[in-house]
Amino acid sequence: MGRLCETEGLTEDQTEILKAVRTFVEERILPVATELEHADEYPQEIIDGLKELGIFGLTIPEEYDGLGESLLTYALCVEEIARGWMSVSGVINTHFIVAYMLMKHGTEEQKRKYLPKMATGEVRGAFSMSEPGLGSDVAAVKTKATKDPDGSGDYVIDGQKMWLTNGGTSNLVAVLVKTDEGADSVYKNMTTFLVEKEPGFGETAPGLTIPGKLDKMGYKGVETTEAVFEGHRVSADQVLGGAPGQGFYQMMDGVEVGRVNVAARAVGIANRAFELAIAYAQQRETFGKPIAEHQAILFRLAEMATKVETAHAMMVRSARIKDRGERNDVEAGMAKMLAAEYCNEVVQDSFRIHGGYGYSKEYEIERLYREAAFMLIGEGTSDIQKMIIGRSLLKDYQLKG
Ligand SMILES: Cc1cc2nc3c(=O)[nH]c(=O)nc-3n(C[C@H](O)[C@H](O)[C@H](O)COP(=O)(O)OP(=O)(O)OC[C@H]3O[C@@H](n4cnc5c(N)ncnc54)[C@H](O)[C@@H]3O)c2cc1C
Repeated sequence: MGRLCETEGLTEDQTEILKAVRTFVEERILPVATELEHADEYPQEIIDGLKELGIFGLTIPEEYDGLGESLLTYALCVEEIARGWMSVSGVINTHFIVAYMLMKHGTEEQKRKYLPKMATGEVRGAFSMSEPGLGSDVAAVKTKATKDPDGSGDYVIDGQKMWLTNGGTSNLVAVLVKTDEGADSVYKNMTTFLVEKEPGFGETAPGLTIPGKLDKMGYKGVETTEAVFEGHRVSADQVLGGAPGQGFYQMMDGVEVGRVNVAARAVGIANRAFELAIAYAQQRETFGKPIAEHQAILFRLAEMATKVETAHAMMVRSARIKDRGERNDVEAGMAKMLAAEYCNEVVQDSFRIHGGYGYSKEYEIERLYREAAFMLIGEGTSDIQKMIIGRSLLKDYQLKG
């Protein structure tokens, strides 16, 4: 560990938690990450260890049996975990987003029902907006929930969802669907349901099938799935917050904290890529000296470290703004975009420094190279971040008169 990614002004509790996570990453994640990733194997032992550390309940308030920590604490833990293996941070991220949405928008009954069990990891969350025909354009969701005409008040969900991270291992999925609220805005005709299911694949609840794992380029170990709803019945009590028509806003709020999380993951990957590069550059010799002594390599290392530090600072700032209770759409968008782009540049530079060995699966950088690409897509692509940032700034800087 070097001097990068240090954070000023942390409380004693935050420092202790981070120290424990750092040790866990060194001892329990890094030694096995690349082997498990290549085998596409679910990191069960690592997940059990994180449960013991309390990571599943890190941000859940103490009254619901969690640790009541801030978004910043969470993001710094994610940064450490992604430095070890990004897939592990993916296992906890959708869980964290669903817990956040429940804390922020759930009814008291929903909070009492789910949050204590989420804190222990007994209930595991996934969240589902995307469909085969849409990802960025969330308002185009086609999956529908209609009131059953039998007068029970239950809804029936039909449609197909795509790209559910933790779609297999979760037993609670926050699903965004269309409902007919008679509103003139498409955004107000969308509802988030809390769908319960069994973990696993196949028919995991009546009328809900999780077909199997999608075969991905990277981000292995954690499963990403489709979800097929065919007449899945769900009670009106499972509408997040109790009232339909709020789903779009609830999901966008969830994605906003998710963006801080992806920024943290990107910084973690970039930091690890830098560490690998600076170590390799001192070992590998060409033309009679370590390659670190060639100025082109030295300058590359300096630029990489500067990018890691900048992205870390942006991520920390955006988390602190949200923790103050303020909206952080612009800052989270900036942090996510910059961290993702820098992560890809830093990983590419580390790959170049490794020469031919970087292309070998024996070297960790090969895995990071594939993981970095996902940072450009998850929780909204860089172009979508630019839309969010640009539109919000235009409002702020609107010409007067
Ligand atoms: C491994 C993985 C895990 C995922 N996990 C989840 C999950 O757990 N839950 C979930 O709901 N989703 C998940 N997703 C989906 C992810 O959020 C979407 O893939 C992402 O938002 C992009 O959507 P899309 O793939 O439909 O691309 P599209 O929206 O089709 O975009 C295609 C291209 O067009 C660009 N584009 C689109 N609209 C515009 C515009 N207006 N202006 C300029 N450019 C534009 C995009 O930037 C992109 O370059 C996951 C995806 C992957 C790959």
